[in-house]
Amino acid sequence: MDCQICGSGSVRLFQKYQYWIRECTGCKHRFCELEPAHDHVDTVYSDAYFFEGGDGYPDYLGEANLLLAHGVRYGRLLNQLMKPGRVLDIGAAAGFILKGLQSTGWQGIGVEPNARMAAYAAEHLDVDVRAGSLEMFETNETFDLVSMIQVIGHFYDLESALAKAASVTRAGGYWLIESWNKDSLVARGFGQNWHEYSPPSVLRWFGPSDLNRAAAKFGFTPVAHGRPSKRINLDHIESLLSYKLSHPVMKKMMSAAFGLFPKHTTVPYPNFDLFWVLYRNSA
Ligand SMILES: [Zn+2]
Repeated sequence: MDCQICGSGSVRLFQKYQYWIRECTGCKHRFCELEPAHDHVDTVYSDAYFFEGGDGYPDYLGEANLLLAHGVRYGRLLNQLMKPGRVLDIGAAAGFILKGLQSTGWQGIGVEPNARMAAYAAEHLDVDVRAGSLEMFETNETFDLVSMIQVIGHFYDLESALAKAASVTRAGGYWLIESWNKDSLVARGFGQNWHEYSPPSVLRWFGPSDLNRAAAKFGFTPVAHGRPSKRINLDHIESLLSYKLSHPVMKKMMSAAFGLFPKHTTVPYPNFDLFWVLYRNSA
């Protein structure tokens, strides 16, 4: 299986939940060995992904305020570098991040494979999120900015996803990509047990250098980068941990520990394994 970024060969690294994770021998990009079914996106991002925990969210809508704030932070950051314009948010879910961007002067639309999420955005937030996969998304418009917040690791076909993103970005336009960092100390420290190794919902793992290389193929070069500051819900951490911990005693202890906090308590996320990059199309 050749690397979709640099075309080199790849080797099997380790198995996680019965899926092999491979590493490119050239650029060190990691990806899941998987031939996804044509309905992969529908199955993985079903309502269960957003509401039933596991490797997804225990209650996505419960994270509304955190996601809104995340969008606002990115909007303010972007506005220091450019004038707000039209944005396409890929993997927009219920539209909270897009809503946050809008409150800082951006306008635009989202694309989201989960129809219930997309409908929620229209009904409750008055945000235009189109239901469907990125591949099927059609528009005559080109955007000043395409945002991919924690979505690039989910692309099975990276090449065509980025080709699509490039085709809807205006000349001189931007991509904002936030991703988990497989090269971070945290990720390397945890090794195979790093929380982001959770196929098949996550299929790719990037560090800054392979991400830059992927963007460069489409004429995008980095103009700014950093680590996102964010808060997350303790409920979400508890749900993820209980999914990862297999030992019943560990589960019980953890449950007792989390029981000491009120529901929906938020904590700052130590963001050592997250990064964002703003790219500009030099075309
Ligand atoms: Zn490669």
